[in-house]
Amino acid sequence: MQKTPNQELLVAAIKDGTVIDHIPSSRIFDVVNLLGLQGLASAVVVGCNLESGQMGKKSIIKVADKFFTPDEVDRLSVVAPGATLSIIRNYDVVEKHQVRLPETLRGIIRCDNPVCISNNEPMPTRFHVKDNATVRCHYCEHEQRLEKVEIV
Ligand SMILES: [Zn+2]
Repeated sequence: MQKTPNQELLVAAIKDGTVIDHIPSSRIFDVVNLLGLQGLASAVVVGCNLESGQMGKKSIIKVADKFFTPDEVDRLSVVAPGATLSIIRNYDVVEKHQVRLPETLRGIIRCDNPVCISNNEPMPTRFHVKDNATVRCHYCEHEQRLEKVEIV
């Protein structure tokens, strides 16, 4: 596939850090927010609406000197379930894997049932992932579509 000059620039190597690829372009700023990237001191490159054979358009984020924790990867999986994480060390990809939704989400998303105990007591929320599109609250059994959930 031909790359435009802009895309060449965006895929330029970082020495150490993490590349999050195949993010749906509509969720790119949700990913920035939920990973707290705007608060980082290291270099962050955000590329939106890049051509992708598989997805039509995709977005990519590169973060220098940052390696995400399992909890942060779980958060990422909620808004970008098909994203790919590449760990870069000394310009080499040392690890690459697709983000997957865990079976249980704890303290990541809010229950949209106003009378749910998790909205009325100081406690972390807990959801069971039914399939890649629906989650069920552990406490009130209310179901929500993943694409509509609100991040805690
Ligand atoms: Zn609930």
